[in-house]
Amino acid sequence: MNKIHLLEENLINKIAAGEVVERPASVIKELVDNSIDAGANNITVEIIASGKELIKVADDGDGMSKEDLKNSIIRHATSKISTEQDLYTVDTMGFRGEALASISAVSELSITSKEKGADTAYKLEVNNTQQVSIEKTSATTGTIVLIKNLFANIPARLKFLKADATEQRYCIDTLTQIALANPQIAFTLIINGAKKIILPKDQQIVDRIKILFGENISTNLINIFCDHPHIKIKGFIGKPQLSGKSTEQFISVNQRSITDKIVYSAIKQAYSNLIMPSLKPTFFVYITTPSDFVDVNTHPQKKEIKFLNSNLLYSLVKDSVGKALEKTDLTVGGVLISNRNQLVEKQTNYTNSSSFPNFSVADKSRYNDNTIDKTEIYKSIFKSDDTQFFVLNNLYIVVKSENGLDILDQHAAHERVLYNQIKTTLKNAQVMKQKLLLPQKLELPISLEQLFIENITLLEKIGFEFEHNKKIYNITATPTFIKCNANTYINEVITSLNDTNDFNLIDDKTDRKIATMACKAAVKAGDKLSNNEITNLIKILDTFDEKYTCPHGRPVKVNIRFNDMDKMFKRVI
Ligand code: ADP
Ligand code: MG
Repeated sequence: MNKIHLLEENLINKIAAGEVVERPASVIKELVDNSIDAGANNITVEIIASGKELIKVADDGDGMSKEDLKNSIIRHATSKISTEQDLYTVDTMGFRGEALASISAVSELSITSKEKGADTAYKLEVNNTQQVSIEKTSATTGTIVLIKNLFANIPARLKFLKADATEQRYCIDTLTQIALANPQIAFTLIINGAKKIILPKDQQIVDRIKILFGENISTNLINIFCDHPHIKIKGFIGKPQLSGKSTEQFISVNQRSITDKIVYSAIKQAYSNLIMPSLKPTFFVYITTPSDFVDVNTHPQKKEIKFLNSNLLYSLVKDSVGKALEKTDLTVGGVLISNRNQLVEKQTNYTNSSSFPNFSVADKSRYNDNTIDKTEIYKSIFKSDDTQFFVLNNLYIVVKSENGLDILDQHAAHERVLYNQIKTTLKNAQVMKQKLLLPQKLELPISLEQLFIENITLLEKIGFEFEHNKKIYNITATPTFIKCNANTYINEVITSLNDTNDFNLIDDKTDRKIATMACKAAVKAGDKLSNNEITNLIKILDTFDEKYTCPHGRPVKVNIRFNDMDKMFKRVI
């Protein structure tokens, strides 16, 4: 019996949609790309309920005729390429003719369009890939695409979407990337009725960066430039102090925002002796190259492309970033200034020190003198004594123990200590915080604002204080366990709070957040600790019952007993 049959058109479209339309943000990308291809100068994106209820993209581009409007939702129908040769020299964002067909398979879609120079506008209504109606309507030149109830007909897909705040962040991130790649176009983003992002037309990139990511980033950038005959590079890299676990990174090739491992590793390499290996540099890199030097047809969502000569690209990017860093005086900058703002006025002690040991691993000697207060606030409850240890690779602390050797991972150990301490703080409602001499303006990318607001109470409970005036938040106090820039810390914590996958070992939601907070405040692999700090770390860890793993389950301590050594050396069998 024959088992093979052709699938129905409707089902084919749903399968294709799986590749193209992963989440609301991917719909935004496809629709805005279409508006850019139509030559729009102004693009407005509106979402309700993180795009699940409604996504609307309106542009003032060339619009579509009645016939084109009907054809736009047919799979593999496109105005952008005709021959195979065109595929190798694509200079539009789209070319596969499948976005609208895919979207129409997973939502209720309507498109209103008026072609440039035409008298009449038309509105097309689509249901489950099929045209329901096409009628005359009134509209200005351009196109409005309206999508309602995305994935309502595929509950399985809906289930895979993340929390609203996260999906909303993905939407903002997507539009941000496109807006950075196209500074000549004006963009507006409206979320649940409120205007969130307004970017004027023909904007300087650095001004756009300032609106999207704040002044701390926009004022700490270094220009990069390369004028090779085939590969032109311009844009900005961040001074090393902007680097972090999560930071802004942007690459565009021929005005297409992409991710690219070659460009990334070239930049990372150029920073290699300036930042710790675990940190990521900030960059906004614009590459222009002839369209036949790249293959854009390699990724279903066109997020990656292939370069014809990736070795050349690697060395040009590395050189231009390297030269820019060499030429720049890196000793003054945002972190020094913002850390100075964090000078501690006095330590506000809300607890008695016996229930919350006034412990800090951080030691003044690890910081540049400019960056830290002269007041002795980091007193240790332990004096350095004759604990014997040595440190390998600024990571592993090897300690002589009663029955052999303990090897501690300094990050995991500090993370465990902070986690236990924060939990005690919350349980006893006692916090150790320090008032800042000058309030520090909170610099958060727009995409993280919602997450920040959702987590403000928890941040306050662990020792942060904020004052706010309309949308501007100032940090007025920080928990004593945080030794890095408060802005950097909050950014890192908020970014990670929603990436819950890491923390599946911990059931409780608040505990997962505390684990993140501890992790981000803990010393890192590669941080050089003073003898005092190490002694404190070892001793404090010892006071806890729970001390053998960090909150994520990685070992804090490995023990090699004399017995094991005897066996290794075949003294005993
Ligand atoms: P592609 O962009 O790959 O061609 P799409 O499914 O995204 O495929 O769009 C199909 C066609 O619909 C496009 O080729 C274009 O001609 C037309 N179109 C879509 N969106 C717009 C828009 N906003 N303005 C003008 N034309 C559009
Ligand atoms: Mg398209």
